Amino acid sequence: MKTIGLIGGMSWESSALYYRIINETVRNRLAGLRSARIILYSLDFADIEMLQRAGDWAAAGRELGETARRLERAGADFVLICTNTMHKVADVIAAFIDIPLLHIADATAEEIKSQGLQRVGLLGTSYTMEDDFYRGRLTALHGLDVQVPNERERRVVHGVIYDELCQGIARQSSREAFREIMAGLGAAGAQAIILGCTEIALLVDSRDTPLPLFDTARIHAEKAVHLALE
Ligand code: GLU
Repeated sequence: MKTIGLIGGMSWESSALYYRIINETVRNRLAGLRSARIILYSLDFADIEMLQRAGDWAAAGRELGETARRLERAGADFVLICTNTMHKVADVIAAFIDIPLLHIADATAEEIKSQGLQRVGLLGTSYTMEDDFYRGRLTALHGLDVQVPNERERRVVHGVIYDELCQGIARQSSREAFREIMAGLGAAGAQAIILGCTEIALLVDSRDTPLPLFDTARIHAEKAVHLALE
């Protein structure tokens, strides 16, 4: 079994999900006492969020790149960035290491395409919903048709992620807001919804929308197990 390197802490609420999903998937696949070989480097999210807000992506990339290098030196065979947003600097991070970086958008797009779907709604931080590193990759590299909520709704989703979900808070009022936003994406033609932030599954699930949900944290974590056991 290969050793999985996780760059976590962004937020730790979702890193905990990765740890659980990876180990449960290994147990389901191999049974008994089998569990995953994992090295987790968990950062202080306050530091990273400050760099995001300041727009200092270069510094954030260096910090995460150095973290990836620490994981490689500690024996990881490949690395996951346990957040969609910080894939904005995925290329910078990849340049720090000689082992593969398993990209969350690629894993997600492959899963969507394997189910024969093409028009998807995307929920995530403003960076993920608006910047090209994520939408652009889904479109240009994977041929998906990606829709995002309107500006007001994007502000709501972004705020709920940072002010609530990353702090372990799941409010019913926010769940209802997300339900409405997902319904809007469906009405606009989306065949499925990408939960493009690793904490959103802490708030909504299949009871909140008739559309299929693609939970990026789960897909990414399961893909890591697939690679580790290859
Ligand atoms: N975990 C979130 C994501 O998947 C948001 C936190 C962050 O900015 O990294 O994008």
